[in-house]
Amino acid sequence: MPELPEVENVKLSLEKIGTVGQVFEKVEFRRANLRTPLKKELTRKLLGQTVRKVERRAKFLLFETDDFVIINHLGMTGSWRPVTRAADFEKHDHVVFHFTSGLKLIYNDPRRFGLLEMIKSTGTSPWLKNLGVEPLAPAFTGEALFAASRKIKAPLKSFIMDQKRVVGVGNIYASEALFRARLKPTRPAAKLTRVEADRLVECIRTILTAAIGAGGSTIRDYRNSEGEEGSFQAHHLVYDRAGKPCVQCGAPVKSKFLAGRNTYWCAKCQR
Ligand SMILES: [Zn+2]
Repeated sequence: MPELPEVENVKLSLEKIGTVGQVFEKVEFRRANLRTPLKKELTRKLLGQTVRKVERRAKFLLFETDDFVIINHLGMTGSWRPVTRAADFEKHDHVVFHFTSGLKLIYNDPRRFGLLEMIKSTGTSPWLKNLGVEPLAPAFTGEALFAASRKIKAPLKSFIMDQKRVVGVGNIYASEALFRARLKPTRPAAKLTRVEADRLVECIRTILTAAIGAGGSTIRDYRNSEGEEGSFQAHHLVYDRAGKPCVQCGAPVKSKFLAGRNTYWCAKCQR
């Protein structure tokens, strides 16, 4: 499942292939729905609209046109790729943006948990309204995280993965950030000290920035819009390493199901 660094890389590669400035000639639906129905209004209202900006908010991609915003979530397996010939279609190609330049942007999604809808503005969309702070924005501070963690009995890992507080810290990067901050994922959030909150924020920022720089992590089949895999999985220190020696101390990495997700940590290094 793509996390924040992967979605950021999709955004960057969409910019790189020249999506901004393209004018819609046709929107083609090759099936009726993804996670939600694909609405006919997209095929009608987007004609003649110019893509002004491609943005990311949490794990949503936003294509901003003259009058609308197209909101897209990649779900588990969504991806975008550019083609210039109609013959280049593949299985699971569900949506095609045809631009007047001849460029086609294809949305492919084998498991169809993705989302593609049109919204009036980012301020009014129900998809975006309850989202917390961006982890790389200045507002995400140790002070704010510490204040928010008071009286929270939930485990630290669930706390930092709560999208209403901070967005885009998914399962992989939560485990990795907690290992680097030397904090046990199962510890109640309320037990976080002020100093540890600073350290955790620093580690979350560092890991996400490094992962974005490495093109994200390719676990199963993630690719950016230029077909490139991420390489950050080579830098995972605990994620998916259950039973293997901790890179710091050699003790076997532990794993357990926490809030429905596999969680990895070192019982010796993380308190
Ligand atoms: Zn260790």
